[in-house]
Amino acid sequence: MSTVPTTSVCPVCALPTRRVFTAPALGHGGSAAMRAIDATKQTADSPSVVSAVPRDRKPPRPVSRDPRHSRLPRP
Ligand SMILES: [Zn+2]
Repeated sequence: MSTVPTTSVCPVCALPTRRVFTAPALGHGGSAAMRAIDATKQTADSPSVVSAVPRDRKPPRPVSRDPRHSRLPRP
């Protein structure tokens, strides 16, 4: 494609003409839609791997060591 000349000679009037037809829909690669599509395909092919448990977990509930509490009725 790089060898195609940008100008040519009109077969009717023999004047130099400009190239009219170009490659279709090339040049939208930087759009937000294309970035979203690329990001979606990227996560589908190689999703990010979790290597550790998240840090923002709640602390465990306190456990009573009082022996009387174990004799209380359970809900
Ligand atoms: Zn012409």
